[in-house]
Amino acid sequence: MTLEQTLPICIAGEWRLGRGERYATCYPATGEAVAWLNAASVEDVEDAVQGAHQAFLHSGWAQRKPHERASVLYRIAELIRERSEDLAQLQRQDNGKPINETRALVASAAGTFQFFASACETLEETITPSRGDFVSMSVYEPMGVIAAITPWNSPIASEAQKVAPALAAGNAVVIKPAEITPLMALQLARICEDAGLPKGLLSVLPGKGSLLGDALTHHPLVKRVSFTGGTKTGKHIAHIAADKMMPVSLELGGKSPTIVLDDADLDHAVAGVLYGIFSSSGEACIAGSRLFVARALYEPFMARLVVAAAELRVGDPADERTQMGPLISAGHRESVERYVALGLAEGGRLLLGGERPSGGIYDRGYYYPPTILEGLNNGQQVCQEEIFGPVLVVMPFDDEEQLLEQANDSLYALAAGIWTRDYKRAWALGRKIQAGTVWINTYKQFSISTPFGGWRDSGLGREKGRLGILQYMEQKSLYWGMNEQPLAWAGVQREVGL
Ligand code: NAD
Repeated sequence: MTLEQTLPICIAGEWRLGRGERYATCYPATGEAVAWLNAASVEDVEDAVQGAHQAFLHSGWAQRKPHERASVLYRIAELIRERSEDLAQLQRQDNGKPINETRALVASAAGTFQFFASACETLEETITPSRGDFVSMSVYEPMGVIAAITPWNSPIASEAQKVAPALAAGNAVVIKPAEITPLMALQLARICEDAGLPKGLLSVLPGKGSLLGDALTHHPLVKRVSFTGGTKTGKHIAHIAADKMMPVSLELGGKSPTIVLDDADLDHAVAGVLYGIFSSSGEACIAGSRLFVARALYEPFMARLVVAAAELRVGDPADERTQMGPLISAGHRESVERYVALGLAEGGRLLLGGERPSGGIYDRGYYYPPTILEGLNNGQQVCQEEIFGPVLVVMPFDDEEQLLEQANDSLYALAAGIWTRDYKRAWALGRKIQAGTVWINTYKQFSISTPFGGWRDSGLGREKGRLGILQYMEQKSLYWGMNEQPLAWAGVQREVGL
């Protein structure tokens, strides 16, 4: 396919042009078009949902034995692995992440399908303790059509986290990827088709969230929305879901604290803090964007951190040595710049960065350097709002009580990091931190077998983990009567001649 051609999209098992506006997806490192496609239209949403509903009812997918569904999911994992280098290169172009990161995301997507294939074939239903002459059971049923709405920062991994458990559970899925990064979801649909997933069970609708995501969320045949994205959008979806009495899972934003206690191993803490905020150019929900350092350590620690941050390699995402690629778009870079200007206006001082790099490739892509601000307090806007870029705000603290108060003083509660040599202190602090994930002497490490999600404005529900599949199933109780006699009450009725 040449660049001038328009990519088809996958609607109810057919590959055809969307009926929305034609647009290009662009490589953030150069601004050049990667592919042209037509967005889906609201009519396409209707076709995709109706097609998914019909496939759910008539393809036999939900009725297949768990090990039979699992074998298709294992095959999807294999195909992702077979095509991994092409996928990683495409994802690099789709969202500008360094190639080593996109390789890891593709590998994680394969692992997610493998994991949920195994969760599918090992999911147990239970016989519950009986309190009468009956056998009582708790079983699970698929829900129907699931809408998976995903952001632009980690395509394929985000999509896999929703699609794999939803399909494993026996559902049909309609993916609404971020408008600016639709290519990986389309590739995933091709792979699912090649792996033998029944036609119509998976559709992909690129385009504007306010139009397509909204239409999907409102659709009466959509039985659950699994959303990853910004908190404002998540709340909007939750309102619509409340009116439909529809369950939702919401993986939202963060402003995660990283804490360096006075007994921390400095080599580990410096490396972990840098990775926590600057990997993925800070475009990560779990970015450790608020750093609290024990005052006794503050000067020496910050001196080391600034030197190490200045050495990070910001550049071409295709270069294996690159640690930070460009930001996703010109508009997003401007938003990051506005936050840095606001931080300075609020009294912050720049320890590093704060200015676009220039010359060579920097003039073509949306690059922004690692940026560190000090001199602010936790209540200020840049310390409270998610910047979603490579900007770290740093604050010293005097005692753990004051530290805890500030670390927890955020609308968000997604993740946190603690650096200390004392595991008793880490335990005490780790239990008091309000966050969905707390990393101790590490950061941004993940396992598909460990549940993930946020508290408060960071979200509702948990993805991943063996029980992640249950999000996409309804629970049902079955009672099997074992009585030789009619129910006593009915017998009483006969005795009194009713
Ligand atoms: P976004 O909320 O703008 O968009 C996310 C998705 O929602 C996109 O597909 C978008 O098209 C769609 N959308 C937009 N408006 C909609 C509407 N009215 N109805 C339905 N869908 C709609 O977020 P973004 O800018 O793409 O992503 C960045 C955000 O995602 C950050 O806040 C980040 O923290 C968050 N995020 C969270 C996690 C997590 O797991 N907690 C992971 C990655 C990103």
